[in-house]
Amino acid sequence: MKLKTLEMTLQRLGGFPRPRAALEQYQTPAPLAARLLYHALMKGDIAGKTVCDLGSGTGVLAIGASLLGAARVTGIEIDPCAVEVAQANAALLEADAEFILADVSDASLTGRAGPCDTIIMNPPFGAQKVHADRPFIDLALTLAPVIYSIFNAGSTQFVTSYITGRGKITERIGGIFPLKRTYSFHTRDIQEIEVEILRIIRKS
Ligand code: SAH
Repeated sequence: MKLKTLEMTLQRLGGFPRPRAALEQYQTPAPLAARLLYHALMKGDIAGKTVCDLGSGTGVLAIGASLLGAARVTGIEIDPCAVEVAQANAALLEADAEFILADVSDASLTGRAGPCDTIIMNPPFGAQKVHADRPFIDLALTLAPVIYSIFNAGSTQFVTSYITGRGKITERIGGIFPLKRTYSFHTRDIQEIEVEILRIIRKS
């Protein structure tokens, strides 16, 4: 599947029906999701691989990975409403992905969801709950040797020091996250947030 086709296909997916600010629920826009997935595909980290999406939300990343030929895809998500939407979205595109209702901080997940080859994720940036992204990074490093994650632009330094001794960043791809007005504290119809996609490899 071509990048543009993937992007157009992911555009068809349903969003969060009642987005919850406390969980930082923002669906990754199709162009950014497709970019992350296609990059991972080109690096040999998707096709034929077992892939896990942490905080899978409405399933954009998980479903995209399945469409690009992942052998097995699992999404982990704390919000039951989001899991329902993700399942409906997977059915819509006839994608093969399983969604587990769980908190990424749940220690039993290590055995239930992993190990896997590749993690893809767009975790909360920690705007509502400080350090909300940390359990995502911790679980990702436990589950897989390769991680692709979207962060706020300028996070490289924090991530580098947070994962010291456990992993390292091998690539950084800049991108834009056009944030639609979703919550009452949003003051503009669309706000463009600069983000970065980081590829992290676990220390072996
Ligand atoms: N991956 C999706 C959603 C990103 S928004 C996408 O790319 O579109 C972040 C997601 O993480 C939300 O769906 C939110 O409900 C989920 N989330 C937040 N805290 C969580 C936690 N502790 N455990 C599991 N999921 C969590």
